[in-house]
Amino acid sequence: MKRIVVKVGSHVLTQNNRLAKDRIENLCNFIYDLKAKKYEIILVSSGAVASGYSKLKLDKSIIANRQALSAIGQPHLMGVYEKKLSKYDIITAQVLLTADDFDSRKATSHARGAIEALLEHGVLPIINENDTTATQELVFGDNDQLSAHVAYYFRADMLVILSDIDGYYTKDPRQYEDAKVRSIVSAIDPQELETPHTPNHAFATGGIVTKLKSANFLLKRNRKMFLASGFDLADIRSFLLDGKHIGGTLFSNESL
Ligand code: ADP
Repeated sequence: MKRIVVKVGSHVLTQNNRLAKDRIENLCNFIYDLKAKKYEIILVSSGAVASGYSKLKLDKSIIANRQALSAIGQPHLMGVYEKKLSKYDIITAQVLLTADDFDSRKATSHARGAIEALLEHGVLPIINENDTTATQELVFGDNDQLSAHVAYYFRADMLVILSDIDGYYTKDPRQYEDAKVRSIVSAIDPQELETPHTPNHAFATGGIVTKLKSANFLLKRNRKMFLASGFDLADIRSFLLDGKHIGGTLFSNESL
């Protein structure tokens, strides 16, 4: 059985300062199809801050307010997932982690025990950063890096990042019309990791660089990552469900 971590960014999960429920519905349907194909799935979901902001308009430029919004939004977001996934008979579980949890062997092994028990029973773990005690991903990362740790330490075969962009391009496609999607990337040049971060959205904090850092972390450990659109799931559906690589970027150092 293949284990996959699916990370979905805030831009995909929100629209006009609210949760984008139709996209969440598509995501849940996709998770159901993956599970039916015997994939084990762990979801890493952003969107708590945006979800909190739909209830209380706090100034998001202040970090403590973003933490507060995340605390308000997290149960609401989980409620939406729970409701949508219960239609598919999928039980959800909330797991809040921080990067520090992976620095401690003891904490990592405790978390792994819980994740294994959940997966064994077909439950969908939904992971987010614990924003009350850690702000790293809230400030910079939008869970891209957390999801790479989750994929590696919870022994997934692949991390799938569903983004507002449908792949890794030769240059920023929003600035250059002639940018082309790179289909397969087997190594990341250190220079590419230094490009200034370019998030495309008020809630997003990552941009392409945090995704490349995640890919780099996994490539160095012989794991794979796939970057695809979270707005239109056709590419990731073809790749995982039909074994056809049409769009999206596969980061892999396996000789093909
Ligand atoms: P998300 O919110 O989905 O996690 P972000 O908006 O934080 O995603 O980051 C993706 C954005 O990075 C793209 O929308 C694009 O504008 C920008 N970007 C800059 N350089 C590139 C590149 N070479 N390939 C793809 N996207 C790029």
